[in-house]
Amino acid sequence: MPKDAKIQAEADRNRELLRTVIVGHVDHGKSTLVGRLFHDTGSLPDGKMEAITEMCRKRGMPFEWAFLMDAMQAERDQGITIDTSQIWFHTEKRDYTIIDAPGHTEFLKNMVTGAAQADAALLVIDAGEGVQEQSRRHGYLLSLMGVRQVAVAVNKMDRVDYSQARFDEIEAEYRQYLNSVGVDATFVVPVSAREGDMIAMRTDGDEKANMGWYKGPTVVEAFDSFKMPEPLSHQALRMPVQDVYKFDDRRIIAGRIESGKLRVGDRVMFSPLNKSSRIKSIETWPDSRENPTAASAGESVGITLEEQIFVERGQIMSQVDNPPVETDVFRARIFWLGREPLSVKKAYKIKIGTLQANAKIESVERIVDTGDLSNREAEQVERNQVGEVIIRCKRMIALDEFTENPNTGRFVIVDGYDIAGGGIISMEGYPDQRSLSTVKSTNIYKVTTNVDRAARERRNHHKGGVLWFTGLSGAGKSTIAVALEKALFERGYSTYVLDGDNVRYGLNANLGFSPEDRAENIRRVGEVASLFSDAGVIVLSSFISPYRSDRQRARDSVGEGFHEIYVATPLEVCEERDPKGLYKKARSGEIKDFTGVSAPYEEPAEADFTLRTAERSVEECVEELLGYVGHKFDL
Ligand code: ADP
Repeated sequence: MPKDAKIQAEADRNRELLRTVIVGHVDHGKSTLVGRLFHDTGSLPDGKMEAITEMCRKRGMPFEWAFLMDAMQAERDQGITIDTSQIWFHTEKRDYTIIDAPGHTEFLKNMVTGAAQADAALLVIDAGEGVQEQSRRHGYLLSLMGVRQVAVAVNKMDRVDYSQARFDEIEAEYRQYLNSVGVDATFVVPVSAREGDMIAMRTDGDEKANMGWYKGPTVVEAFDSFKMPEPLSHQALRMPVQDVYKFDDRRIIAGRIESGKLRVGDRVMFSPLNKSSRIKSIETWPDSRENPTAASAGESVGITLEEQIFVERGQIMSQVDNPPVETDVFRARIFWLGREPLSVKKAYKIKIGTLQANAKIESVERIVDTGDLSNREAEQVERNQVGEVIIRCKRMIALDEFTENPNTGRFVIVDGYDIAGGGIISMEGYPDQRSLSTVKSTNIYKVTTNVDRAARERRNHHKGGVLWFTGLSGAGKSTIAVALEKALFERGYSTYVLDGDNVRYGLNANLGFSPEDRAENIRRVGEVASLFSDAGVIVLSSFISPYRSDRQRARDSVGEGFHEIYVATPLEVCEERDPKGLYKKARSGEIKDFTGVSAPYEEPAEADFTLRTAERSVEECVEELLGYVGHKFDL
């Protein structure tokens, strides 16, 4: 290679590369547009144009711009995977790769699974046909996958006599739709891909003045106006652990740094177990010559730690002060591609990076119609549908919200052996459970006392334990707990009522109603109930406690003697009763995140006892419970 060319190649490699996707209805002229784009930006390899022209002549076919595209596509499709770093076209400003070009039937799957992530998109619409169902669907999918930089090309303007009125009409309609899905089209450009109007060349100045009325940018200028995404290395450190290798006495933790950077000496944490250590070394693979002291996003590394802590595949390594979310439940918008519909209660596997977890779809919140964006309730998500679902994993996992970190905020669902769908994660309405399970103090030792639980029970003539009332606000938890306590007390039981509002005056006065604070509220109550129960008392706790994980934590803390009492009163009945006027305030928006109205309530999967208060009086409920308590607590 001559020296100049080498320098040029070096310089080229340092040019910005923006990953784009060009989408549109099948017949709306994408191929032609892309062919034009190659040609008009001078991005075609030498002789390509001539070869295609010659081929057309030989076969007696008129030249089509789409042939160019097809020829290029065929060459590129020979690779098995999409090479997202391959340059497709370039402008003076930068290089572009097209992740989806016409013909890539795998587009949706690639977008959904994260195999291909686009920084910006061009949506193509036919001026004659206008906004079609598929145009809407594409716009919606871009928004779903977090592509926020979008331009629109209204193509085939030559077929509508370059009519400004027609263009304005389409622009208004499509902009409105895109806005409704949270996408702000930077530019809407009228073009004729076949004639070359407004792709790279301005045609408003020439004598044809096809679109003298249009003052905006060309397609190429629109592309150049897109911003480069913030480099991944600037974001929080996330390294999903791929494997742990043992070499002599060293343990090397291997993984790909998805975002952020790390340095020898950094204190890092592994979620969800939350064990931390300092990085001792960064090993180069497979044989270390001179080990680096730092590495950043995009690199695959092996590291060793100063302390020997338990690390395994699927954990996420982060900095200690900026860790991922820890949870066993999350909300997701998914796009389903499976042959069998995605259904509630069926078991699936989810994968986030290197993590695999068994999971169930707890509920399908809604199916979103991409056409008119209407929501429907449904029990399952059919192939090619978009659904909002709640996913519950069998164990705690670490993840991010998609808006925080696209790499660890995206997952795929495996049905059997196939990737059957994928989606993005939101924690809306759900708490980060990290702080609930992290023990911060060290050097703590349990004291054993001389009066044990059995001795207390003998004196009381009954066991200690917890009746954990859960249910919507207004379900009747407090009313029943208070009435039951009186009845029990009169019969000689040691009892105590722990009630939501009461503990919020004291013990939990520093907590609000965010998902995290609610979870902490319940954690503390669970701990207090556990202490009382240990003291031999029958605790009647009355808390909405909407999250299943929180109630499970309380159950774990109390152990034997924990009884989940589901006060199963339908929402309509609770709202009708509205004893504190809270539903009214919630409906008017005065109270945010109100359980049952604007925040989730997760019904107990297997309550120990269920009370149907809509069908029974308070006295009847108390009577039922007296029998239950006698049976479970009497010695
Ligand atoms: P929660 O503690 O679940 O928020 P409350 O006990 O404060 O609910 O309010 C329940 C309201 O419903 C009370 O006004 C109560 O009198 C009324 N109610 C009507 N029927 C029943 C029933 N069968 N059980 C419990 N409460 C009932």
